Parts: sequence; C-alpha cells; structure tokens
Amino acid sequence: MNFNLLNESQLNDLRALLETAEHIVVCAHKSPDGDAVGSALAWKHFLVQAGKTDVKVCLPDAAPDFLQWMPGFDTILRYDKRRKEVEEAFAGADLVCCLDFNSARRVEAMQPVLDGCAAPRLLIDHHLDPDLPCRLSVSHPEMSSTSEIIFNLICQLGGFDAMTKQCAQCIYCGMMTDTGGFTYNSTRPEIYFVISQLLTKGVDKDSIYNRVFHNYSVSALKLRAHIILNKLNVIEELHASYYAVTKQEMRRFHFIKGDMEGLVNIPQQIKGLKLSISLREDTEHPNQVLVSLRSCNGFHCQPMAVKFFNGGGHADASGGKLHCSIAEAEQIAIKAIMAYREELR
Ligand code: 5GP
Ligand code: MN
Repeated sequence: MNFNLLNESQLNDLRALLETAEHIVVCAHKSPDGDAVGSALAWKHFLVQAGKTDVKVCLPDAAPDFLQWMPGFDTILRYDKRRKEVEEAFAGADLVCCLDFNSARRVEAMQPVLDGCAAPRLLIDHHLDPDLPCRLSVSHPEMSSTSEIIFNLICQLGGFDAMTKQCAQCIYCGMMTDTGGFTYNSTRPEIYFVISQLLTKGVDKDSIYNRVFHNYSVSALKLRAHIILNKLNVIEELHASYYAVTKQEMRRFHFIKGDMEGLVNIPQQIKGLKLSISLREDTEHPNQVLVSLRSCNGFHCQPMAVKFFNGGGHADASGGKLHCSIAEAEQIAIKAIMAYREELR
C-alpha cells in the first residue's frame, strides 16, 4: 500500500507554506457536509497542535445539526451569520486552505471574499476536475474523502503521534459520511488501515455512526417515508429514478437542514438501478432547485450533473442547481434521463 500522497518536492512546498504562515483561514464549500466540516476541523486541530495560534475555519453557511457534536464545531465562523469577522479573517490571512471543493463557485456567496484574498492558497480536495488557482494543489479524486487526504498529509508531515482524539474523530466522521458509512467509494484497502490507526486514538466509531445517522426527528423520518411512498418515480426500463419535493411538502414535515441528507441513496436499493435523481426546492432562495445525483452499476452521473444541472462532483455522487420551478426541474430531469437512455438501458 502506498501512503505517501505527496512527492518530495510537494512535501517540501507544503512544509514551506505551513512554516511561514501565522494567520490561517481554512474554508470549505456551501452547505458543508460531514467531510467538509470534518476535514476543515481536523486540519485546524492539526495546525493548532503544531503550534499555530491563529487558525480560523470559515464556512459559507450552516452545517446540519447532526454534526454539532464535532470537536471545534462551535469555533466555526459562518459567513451568512458573521460576515465581517469572516472578511477580516481572509483580509488578515497569510495562508488560505481550501478544503473539499474544486472551484471558487462552490463557496457561493463567500466567493468574492475568497477571490479578493491575496494570500497563497492550498487546495486539498477529492472532487474531479479542480479549477482553483493555488500555490499547492493536493487533488486526489481516487480518495474516499478530503478527510482521508488530511490523514495522509498529517502522517507525511510527521504528525501522527501527536494527533489528538479530537482530530481523529473529525477525520473518521468525514470518511464515514462521504462513503455512506463505508458502503460506496470505499473499496481501497488503505481506507481500513487509516480507520485502524484512528481507532488507536480512542475514536468510538459506533458512537459516531449513531450521532450522525441516527439523529432524525419523527417528522424528518416521515418526510423521507412520504417521498419514497408518494413521490418516487421509477423508469424501470432505464434503471433510473427521480423525485421532486416542494417547499410546501417540506414545511408540512417541519423540514430543517439535513433532513433529506442521503435520501437520494435509497432508490439505489432497487435491484439493478443505475441512476437516482433528487430534486428539492431551495427553502432559502426562490425559484431555485437543489439537485443530487447518485449512480451505480456501471453508469456515472458526473457528466450529467455538469451538462444538465450546472454542477459536478464525483463520478457516482454529484450535485447541482437549477434556476427554475420544481415542475420545470422535473422536466429537465426527464430530459437528462432520456439523453442518457442508451447507457442506462
Ligand atoms: P450532495 O448530493 O451530497 O449534495 O453532493 C454530492 C457531491 O456533489 C458532493 O461531493 C458535492 O460536493 C458535489 N456537489 C454538490 N452540488 C454541487 C454543485 O453545485 N457543483 C459541483 N461542482 N459539485 C456539487
Ligand atoms: Mn468530500
């Protein structure tokens, strides 16, 4: 097994970047998930442990409630809540670490702040096709998660022995959430070596699973059941499914952020299904539809996300956004499925 992600010259570049930095901003994508929050907090824990006194995690907006237990969560600066503090953090930064995203667009409203910041950038990410100018790019789409990359970098920098339990918990959570509890993107044997090492730090993996995946309210569970029972459309001959959820339905079931997380994976339980599309009205922005795509059984959804849904992501887990009504979004989803009918059949 090969654990060294960086070659000698990249490792020297990373060391040099970290050595001179005193005011560090760590940022990740909008609607941060377990990997975005996990990798950002783990990297912060490592940097603080390594002696850095000014490390700020800045995120565009809220993370789901089921991540609130993560060590350091309460130190996160949200751009939508504490705009001025985030702007000041970027303005005073001498290093900006961009974690778990591949293009400045992915931080959305925070993009002008990132674009306007002159500090050197370090990219650490596992999405396809990185498009973010930076001093050093550590881009590995073959990795399970950005959190797994963070583990590797910490080890290459000689930081494993000093790694705290808090840091290990954040890394584990990011790896676990980005692989659906190690059920996809999780066949590389190195992943399980990493887990075994994290366990030596005192990580309680079963407890983390419970805190993240067994955290629904009754109404969230009922919303999910409603969608599967009443809203799921399956085109059996094309091994594809889609559902479209309105704001009204979400209100009915007292939707809060995170309530639909991972639901797009459920139709993949249908034997032979290749593509699952989730459409839901954005509760924050009018006339906007949030799209999630998942694929398996030899079909890859990422090109469809780029072509039809203004998005991208990973080969088999992508997302995007449409600026239209939910009814129009449904028509676009059908059009997308039809455009790929030969591959889906
Ligand atoms: P999810 O469906 O869980 O929201 O997202 C699945 C994957 O697609 C994640 O890795 C996420 O970063 C990526 N993704 C989600 N939305 C977008 C988007 O609008 N643009 C791009 N390029 N990737 C996205
Ligand atoms: Mn990720």
